[in-house]
Amino acid sequence: MINGLRSAVEDAGVTIMTDCRVDQLFVNQQGRVTGIQLQRPDNSIEHIACQSIVLACNGFGGNPDMVKQYIPEMSEALYFGHMGNQGDAITWGLELGAMTHDLGSYQGHGSVAHPHGILISWALMMEGGFQINALGERFSNEHGGYSEQARQVIEQPQGIAWNIYDSRLHNIVKDFEDYRQAEKSGAVIIAQDVQQLAEITATPLSQLQQTIQQVNDMAAGKGQDAYGRDFTTRPALTPPYYTTKVTGALFHTQGGLVVDEQARVLRQSGGSFPNLFAGGGAACGVSGPEDWGYLSGNGLLTALTLGRIAGTNAGKMLHL
Ligand SMILES: Cc1cc2nc3c(=O)[nH]c(=O)nc-3n(C[C@H](O)[C@H](O)[C@H](O)COP(=O)(O)OP(=O)(O)OC[C@H]3O[C@@H](n4cnc5c(N)ncnc54)[C@H](O)[C@@H]3O)c2cc1C
Repeated sequence: MINGLRSAVEDAGVTIMTDCRVDQLFVNQQGRVTGIQLQRPDNSIEHIACQSIVLACNGFGGNPDMVKQYIPEMSEALYFGHMGNQGDAITWGLELGAMTHDLGSYQGHGSVAHPHGILISWALMMEGGFQINALGERFSNEHGGYSEQARQVIEQPQGIAWNIYDSRLHNIVKDFEDYRQAEKSGAVIIAQDVQQLAEITATPLSQLQQTIQQVNDMAAGKGQDAYGRDFTTRPALTPPYYTTKVTGALFHTQGGLVVDEQARVLRQSGGSFPNLFAGGGAACGVSGPEDWGYLSGNGLLTALTLGRIAGTNAGKMLHL
């Protein structure tokens, strides 16, 4: 996708500058952005004038202070996005009196290999796997959603969980690039039986046996899951077992600047800024106020659609 977008930009004759961090917007008394200041890695400063500007610098996932302020439950979580995302759009917007919304909203993920830092596909859970904590107990409905599961995992002892699955599930995900990397890094471990699984995960054997027995029973239609998951739709796991140690991570923030249908940033006092646009993670998305509203695709949805709308409208201002 990045290659496609870059080709489109190059075909349109647009200059791409990298290795520069924008650290200031210049705004006149009417709220019109007249230019930006940027800093190079050698600390040199440059100024660029503009007729319009699109804030496409995502949210604040890489800024621990802002995460603590707006999403305190994820302040201890691994941030798995780009560290350049320091919340600048929101900081500038607030300074200018822009409207923000849903700053507590985010995409989390409950299955990032620890300490390897590699995404382990959630398909493992959806196809029949489950998660246990360091006590050998399940602790949630894994089908509640991978975003919500980040918080659940972080709340467990040491903030970790173990994905438990088998060779059927391993074969389903083994062609994912991330999973292949995880295998190469030694994050995927095979246990011949429950006893070996207990040793690998350092969980009490009797509790682990009980947990696996309960899951097998539920897959066979016996008993109800305390967390509300239906296990009958997939076969029970069979040895050898596969496991990966994982933690919960913050992928990106979903709240941000409120924009109108032209992707213009709105003012708290009413109306919009004349030439200030926002898209992607800089703008408020469609995921509601917390972690539960995130659906796969919501991140790229606002990046692509608002990005296109913002870019089209900002581009029109070049000819004014
Ligand atoms: C591991 C992972 C998996 C994901 N999977 C999905 C998925 O399956 N589906 C989905 O829809 N979404 C997914 N997302 C979310 C999606 O990637 C983001 O929502 C989307 O990339 C946001 O686009 P953006 O352009 O706003 O920000 P980004 O793509 O993050 O780009 C912002 C860029 O701006 C730069 N920047 C920030 N501040 C400044 C500044 N002051 N000056 C200069 N540059 C700056 C940053 O360094 C960064 O390069 C995932 C995110 C992660 C981290």
